[in-house]
Amino acid sequence: MAQSITDQLLSNNKQYAAGKPAHKPGYPGKQPIQPARHVAVVACMDARLDVEDLLGLQTGEAHIIRNAGGVVTDDAIRCLIISHHLLDTNEIILVHHTRCGMLAFTDDLLKAGLEGDPAAENLLGKATGRKFVSCKKCASTPAQFHAFRGAIEPLDAPRNDKMIERLTWDVRRSMSKVLNHPWLPTSGADAITVRGFIYDVDTGKLEEVKYPGPMGTFG
Ligand SMILES: [Zn+2]
Repeated sequence: MAQSITDQLLSNNKQYAAGKPAHKPGYPGKQPIQPARHVAVVACMDARLDVEDLLGLQTGEAHIIRNAGGVVTDDAIRCLIISHHLLDTNEIILVHHTRCGMLAFTDDLLKAGLEGDPAAENLLGKATGRKFVSCKKCASTPAQFHAFRGAIEPLDAPRNDKMIERLTWDVRRSMSKVLNHPWLPTSGADAITVRGFIYDVDTGKLEEVKYPGPMGTFG
């Protein structure tokens, strides 16, 4: 069977982690609007991830959608539907990563801090090393921050098994949201594929998450 584009990008990642980047930074000249490799990536906004570098993507080859956590939000779904149906992408790659900030708080904690709870302000200040200044106002949006499910851990904690488990849960939840959306077909001639990964910010390597599997517990 022919290698998928995602598999080719994974071999670029091995080169990148070994110090041999494939991404070329120069202006490529005139290009078509459709991504040349028919790939869309949803990745965390973390400053340590350079998606073009870590996948060896060139300018013009992929859509790259980024937000806090690489979460499949309503807006990420909007982008993926446009990317697939109008701009001809058919492989979707999800990238979460170790040491993600989304492991270090909960939605309730951040909301309470923003609304003026002194205990939450104190905890968030300690967790981030930055004085947390409450806005002392409630707001209806964003409805969710999408902090990852599971017991929180210190900001930027080193890789550990619990962290990988929580990241794995969220990658699966994100895959599930894409795979089950009625406007993103997963069978027939126009089917998309979705693969999910955890990027290790200390090694530069991508690790694939098996799907389906557990997606977390409320406890
Ligand atoms: Zn992150």
